[in-house]
This record gives sequence, C-alpha cells and structure tokens, in this order.
Amino acid sequence: MRVLAASTHVYNQRMPTTYIGLGSNLGERQNYLERATAMLAPDVTVLRRSPIYETQPWGYADQGTFLNQVLEAETYLSPRLLLTLLKAIEARLGRKTRVRNGPREIDLDILLYGDQSVNERNLIVPHPGLHQRAFILTPLADLAPDLRIAEGRPVSQLLANLDSSGVDRYQP
Ligand code: ADP
Ligand code: MG
Repeated sequence: MRVLAASTHVYNQRMPTTYIGLGSNLGERQNYLERATAMLAPDVTVLRRSPIYETQPWGYADQGTFLNQVLEAETYLSPRLLLTLLKAIEARLGRKTRVRNGPREIDLDILLYGDQSVNERNLIVPHPGLHQRAFILTPLADLAPDLRIAEGRPVSQLLANLDSSGVDRYQP
C-alpha cells in the first residue's frame, strides 16, 4: 500500500533496518498478520519474519489471546511516514477504535528504527513497552538476539530477565 506518490519517495539517505510488531486477537488472527505483512509492500521490504506466538493479553485481561509476530524490514520511509502507513493498513483491515490495550483485529507498532530515537507526542521509538514485554521480545529475540536496545543491553538478556509464561509458539 502506498502512502505517497513514487516521485516523493526518498526520505532518508540511508535505508535503516526496522522492526515492526504485529498483534491480533479478533477474527482470523493469522490471516490479519499475513494480510498486514503483504500490504507493507512496496515501500517497506520485509527481510525476515519471526515465528508466530500465541500470547496472553496484557493490560486488559478480559479478552481473547493474541497472536504476535515481529518483522525485520527495510524502508526509505521516515519513522513518521512509516507510522502513517501502519495506521492506514490497520484502518484498511477494519481495525475499530476500542479500549486502550483492548481487543483489536490488527495492531502494527514500530518497535525499532535503525539506531534512531523519536520522541514526539504520538510517536515514540524505540517503542516504550519493548524492553519489558515478553510477547514482543520473544519473537524479536528469534530474529536479533544480540541487538542492543534499552541501555545498550541485548534483546536476549532483557528477555532472560522477564517472565515468559503465557508466550507460546503458535500451532495453528
Ligand atoms: P497500542 O499502544 O496498544 O499499540 P494503539 O495501536 O491504539 O495502541 O496506538 C496508540 C497510539 O500510539 C498510536 O495512535 C500512535 O500514534 C502511538 N504510537 C507511539 N509510538 C508508537 C510506535 N512506536 N508505533 C506505533 N504507534 C505508536
Ligand atoms: Mg499500536
């Protein structure tokens, strides 16, 4: 799905590696993950996908279990334009506004964007919950265990200090 015309296409001088988190706990959950991934083209090139995990809901417990996955991708889109694309994909897939941390057809988050930090009102990168959420760090560790994130600590080490119960490989 495109967010801008092709002629306005180069926003960064180098192409950073970004990690995108996917989550779904309503409807055909795996299908939502797959359709969202396909809709990232052509502006975002997916390099690798983590396995899918089935995870217990976080924050707001009275809802179905989630499927979570992390994508490693390259893009010329700036963080802001990448967020615009992710929100457009969520809308196209029929995500409705509901309670915060509540059920959703599809949630797309920018977890990391190269080594850049963004601190704006509605865009924070690295994603603020990243280093304390086993449902994100588990699939991220499958792709990039040695990547240093919060306070320079590697993903695998941050994950080792968390309770990972309730995060299980998904068997369709
Ligand atoms: P959740 O926090 O559960 O992902 P939403 O998907 O509804 O909830 O996101 C709420 C808002 O979070 C979005 O409208 C977006 O502006 C903001 N936001 C801030 N940082 C990020 C990020 N790194 N990735 C995605 N959304 C972000
Ligand atoms: Mg989100």
